[in-house]
Amino acid sequence: MTINIPNTDLERIVIVGGGFAGLELAQRVAKMNFQVVLIDKNNYHQFQPLFYQVAMAGLEPSSIAFPLRKAFQKKKNVFIRVTTVESVDTNEKEIQTTLGTLRYDYLVLAIGVDTNFFGNENIAQKAFSMKSVSEALYLRNAILSDYERAVTTTDFDERQGLIDIIIVGGGPTGVEVAGALAEMKKYILPKDYNELNCDEIDIYLIQSSDCLLKGMSTEASEGAAQFLKELGVIVKLNTRVEDFDGSFVYMNDGSKIQGNKMIWAAGIRGNTVKGLPENSIVRGNRIKVDRFNQVEGVDRVFAIGDIAYMEEEEYPKGHPQVAQVAIQQGKNLAKNFKLLPQGKPLRAFTYRDLGSMATIGRNRAVVDLPSYKFKGFFAWIIWLFVHLFSLVGIKNRLFVFINWVWNYMTYDQSLRLIIQPKTKEKIVSTEEKKQS
Ligand SMILES: Cc1cc2nc3c(=O)[nH]c(=O)nc-3n(C[C@H](O)[C@H](O)[C@H](O)COP(=O)(O)OP(=O)(O)OC[C@H]3O[C@@H](n4cnc5c(N)ncnc54)[C@H](O)[C@@H]3O)c2cc1C
Repeated sequence: MTINIPNTDLERIVIVGGGFAGLELAQRVAKMNFQVVLIDKNNYHQFQPLFYQVAMAGLEPSSIAFPLRKAFQKKKNVFIRVTTVESVDTNEKEIQTTLGTLRYDYLVLAIGVDTNFFGNENIAQKAFSMKSVSEALYLRNAILSDYERAVTTTDFDERQGLIDIIIVGGGPTGVEVAGALAEMKKYILPKDYNELNCDEIDIYLIQSSDCLLKGMSTEASEGAAQFLKELGVIVKLNTRVEDFDGSFVYMNDGSKIQGNKMIWAAGIRGNTVKGLPENSIVRGNRIKVDRFNQVEGVDRVFAIGDIAYMEEEEYPKGHPQVAQVAIQQGKNLAKNFKLLPQGKPLRAFTYRDLGSMATIGRNRAVVDLPSYKFKGFFAWIIWLFVHLFSLVGIKNRLFVFINWVWNYMTYDQSLRLIIQPKTKEKIVSTEEKKQS
């Protein structure tokens, strides 16, 4: 079956993935003389840097997601299709999706990455990850369900399993989640669950290397460790998680920690689409591209964003997998799509590092700018504004801003709802999950 898209005289660019890279590119080429087909398995764009706030009941999922169709309402040359791309036939210039096949003149893969469990099936099945809004929501429900369960049990060990949380991976996600959980423990849980002794709640952050926020400066790494310590998070460096059985987390040094909830933020790997030459898939399952984001050895196929592996002099092992790289590659490829029909030479991509940052609860953040590094309250304000203005959609920005202000003034949020589906798989606490 062929996906129904009208055939026109315009050349067709098929973009797979409406994340930071794909959306940036689609919005730009939509203004050019092309037919644009934007495909995503979801009908919305997700703002991944704030997933953790959804998981911690700080924001509603709708505040950080934006419907793809709304972004292109006025563009007659743009077609959105919600489906999963399974493979590419580079000879026929066709993709196969769960809805059928589709011809392309140019194909851009902006499919991003997923969680990497490094082949550990136990961890893959029992740990929580945060690579989508739905996973963040699932985690929120599990945390809240477990606290509900914890107030009903008199067994100390069972209660510890329900209330303690182990986060694996000391990158920005792990650090931000740990900070947000510690704030929840300090300000919210004592009010909501006054029967619980919140001092019994332990939050662990496990990191295999000798520092947090690897890739950022020493100041940022040490600053984050200091802030987490002040918030009562137990940080374990040089410790590798080997296994998890749903009740205990097992470490490489032979120790174990009790806890039903382990949040896995320790690795990513590229999403897969079959049909590309084997030698174009490299470390981390990324797709090797040249400086124009063209997949090496394949005509008219490009990859941008997290999935693309491009070597630059300053980045001999590829670019960091962050939003700025994705956005800048989307912009550069759009410029090249303007040059292509004119037969002009294409612009090679050069990454401009605008800096990186992470927040650790209220009033605390670390910021690394190319020429200046700082931490604390001012860094936190910068973090807030950068994230606010990076969100897609004015309504989303407004809602997030109101949420943050409300949260800041009241030390509280009223979003701690456990939404149970009426049918199909019921949301259960991690204790019930273990027993079933
Ligand atoms: C929890 C978390 C926190 C983060 N925090 C930060 C941060 O603070 N700062 C920062 O710079 N970066 C952060 N990142 C990284 C940043 O989000 C990514 O670098 C960025 O999203 C990459 O953009 P992308 O367009 O390449 O991929 P994505 O944004 O992941 O988009 C990929 C899209 O492709 C779609 N897709 C995938 N496979 C298929 C398929 N087969 N068929 C159809 N559609 C498909 C997906 O549904 C998705 O919409 C964070 C990431 C996570 C997970």
